[in-house]
Amino acid sequence: MRAGGSPRPRLAVYWASACGGCQAAFLDLGEDLLALEERFEIVLFPLLVDFTEDDLEALSPGDIDLCLVSGGMRNDHDLRVAGRLRELSRFMVALGACAHLGSVLGLANTGTVEELLEAVYGPGGPVPRGSTTAGGEVLSLPESLPRIRPLGEVMPVDFVIPGCPPERRTLAAALGLLEAVARGEMEAPPRGSVLGASDVALCEECPRERPTGPLETLRRLHEVDPVPDRCLLDQGLLCLGPATRGGCGAVCIEAGAGCRGCYGPLEGVSDQGARMLGALVALGGPRSFEEVAAGEEAEALADSVADPVGSLYRFSFAASLLDRLVPGKEGTS
Ligand code: SF4
Repeated sequence: MRAGGSPRPRLAVYWASACGGCQAAFLDLGEDLLALEERFEIVLFPLLVDFTEDDLEALSPGDIDLCLVSGGMRNDHDLRVAGRLRELSRFMVALGACAHLGSVLGLANTGTVEELLEAVYGPGGPVPRGSTTAGGEVLSLPESLPRIRPLGEVMPVDFVIPGCPPERRTLAAALGLLEAVARGEMEAPPRGSVLGASDVALCEECPRERPTGPLETLRRLHEVDPVPDRCLLDQGLLCLGPATRGGCGAVCIEAGAGCRGCYGPLEGVSDQGARMLGALVALGGPRSFEEVAAGEEAEALADSVADPVGSLYRFSFAASLLDRLVPGKEGTS
C-alpha cells in the first residue's frame, strides 16, 4: 500500500510532443480501461480528465506513484512539465517510442530547428514564435530546443514501455507490473528496464521462417506480393526484426508489412540502425575478403534501401550514435 493510506496507486499520464497515439493506446485496453479507475487513483490524464499546470503546482513530491510520460522533449514547455512531474513522482516511466527514443519526431534532428521551420513554413514565411498580448494576457509559444531529446536523456527514467504505440499486450502487462510495484507487492525491476516486451529479437517470435539470405536488393512493398510463411527480408522487403526488441506479437508482419523497429534496440545495443545495417550486410551472403573490400555488393544493397535514415532509424535517430555526429549538434543539450 502506498504511503498516505490510499489503497490505489496514484497515476499520472502525460503527453509531451507527440501525436497522442500512446494515450489513445489506453482506449485499446478494452475492459482493462474500464477497470483503470478501480485500480488507480488518476491524478492527471489529459486524454480523460482536464487539468491545468496549477494542479501540478498544488502537488508535493511523492504525491504521484506512477507517472507515464509519452512524447519527446521538443520545447521548453515539455521540459518544464516533465521536470515537475519527475519531482512529484516515485516512478517515472517513458511511455512509447517518442519518450523512449525520440521516434519519428527525432528525424527532425537530421537538421537544425531553423531548417525545420523553413521546411514547414517556407523560406521567409511567417514563423509563429515568441509572445503576444490578447485580452490583457501575455500568450507565449514554447521555444523549440535545438534537438528533440528522449525523456531519459533529460532526467532519470525508471522504466520504459516501448512501441509506437505500445501494443495492448505490452501496455496491459506493464500496467499490471507497475501496479504491483507501486503497491509494494513486488520488487521494482532494475532502473531502465523495458516493460511488457521481450529481451530477444522480434525474429524469435515471428511466425515466418528465419531469414537465410542471400539478400541482393531491397524492394518497396508495392513492388512485392509477399507470400505467407517466408521471411519478408528473404523476399526483398525491409524488415527490422533482426535489430528490434520483440514483444509486440509481430502484428505488422502478420499483416504482411515489415517491422519498422518501434520497440527499439535490443538490450546492450546502442545504435539500432547500425545493428540493422550489420544484419543486412551479413544477409548479403558469404563473400571473399576481396569482394567485401571492393564493397560492390554491399554498395548495391545499401543503394536499394529507400531513405536509409528514415528506414533504419525511423524511431531511434534521436537516441542514436549518428545523432551525435550531425554537424552543429555538439553542445546543444
Ligand atoms: Fe520475421 Fe522480419 Fe525476422 Fe523475417 S526479418 S523472420 S519477417 S521479423
